[in-house]
Amino acid sequence: MKSLVEHLACSHKLDAKGLGQLLRGTVADTNVLQLLRDTAVRTAREQFGLGIYIRGLIELSSYCRCDCLYCGLRRSNRTAERYRLSKEDVMACCEEGYALGFRTFVLQGGEDGTHTDKWLVELISKIRERYADVAITLSLGERSEESYRKLKEAGANRYLLRHEAANGELYASLHPSSRGLQHRIACLDALHRCGYQRGMGMMIGVKGQTIDHIVEDLLLIEKMQPEMVGIGPFMPHSATPLGMEPAGGLTLTLAAIAIVRLMLPHALIPSTTALATLSPTGRLEGILSGANVVMPNLSPSNVRAKYSIYENKASWGKEAAEGLAALDAELQTIGYHIDYARGDYKP
Ligand code: SAH
Repeated sequence: MKSLVEHLACSHKLDAKGLGQLLRGTVADTNVLQLLRDTAVRTAREQFGLGIYIRGLIELSSYCRCDCLYCGLRRSNRTAERYRLSKEDVMACCEEGYALGFRTFVLQGGEDGTHTDKWLVELISKIRERYADVAITLSLGERSEESYRKLKEAGANRYLLRHEAANGELYASLHPSSRGLQHRIACLDALHRCGYQRGMGMMIGVKGQTIDHIVEDLLLIEKMQPEMVGIGPFMPHSATPLGMEPAGGLTLTLAAIAIVRLMLPHALIPSTTALATLSPTGRLEGILSGANVVMPNLSPSNVRAKYSIYENKASWGKEAAEGLAALDAELQTIGYHIDYARGDYKP
């Protein structure tokens, strides 16, 4: 196992067999997990020191045309409370976030049909005009290349679009009535052509996912070389078809984060909210597996509970934009601190 970790750390890649062995090794033996995580942390420190970048997450809308089996915002969930922020709401979030020190705003949402190019271009242009020095990240699902280009030209810089599952069958089983894995990948290719810094990623432990599937995910990430990678555990939401399934495992989630850090030393990797929700120590454990970004919630407080992609999603305290002091204090307990820089990808 030691030689696998060393090989991965030096050559930034491992074949399917090696990745499978390593993932299984971390589950079977905590020493393997520890070695992998320690190596990943060393790599992250060489790139980023002890600073952790923060991104202010603004959840634009809980309306969604998709029907992803795992997600509480799926259109078939009749019990979901829906909301949609106005441009003024979003500008107020940005104002608060900017004052708190955020220099990246992430506009995330369900695939809301009212988010036309025109509406988004107006919003993005306004943010860009008011805050010349911030990065604008979008996470609004699948759109046309033309749309991605317009939003880029309006001032967006980055786009998060997790590939969700690199295995076509698993992808199809989780996303009924979607346009399929090939379309998802085509969107990621389009984002690259438009000049975005791109984010890929997947959940760990979602129903039907095996270790071999995670190997496929890791190989796809290695092949596509995204600038950002988001990985978190699956968390059940009772009003979805996967509501009775167990949450994803901590070990495999941390192992996958650490492997991605070694594959892509320069990548921006969040310690995700799902990880912090899964375990009280999750956020720190993600950082101690090579993550270097945290995304506190900057949505208006009256809508936070409604953006319920899974239940009990952390959005208060250290997960809240208002909780930056508490977050920084928590990071200090492991010798880290918040880095307030905009934190673009540096090759
Ligand atoms: N509509 C956008 C944003 C989706 S929410 C898009 O399609 O990209 C961001 C991420 O949350 C998703 O990519 C998914 O991987 C994750 N997510 C959704 N439901 C989840 C759940 N039940 N548990 C854990 N993560 C979940």
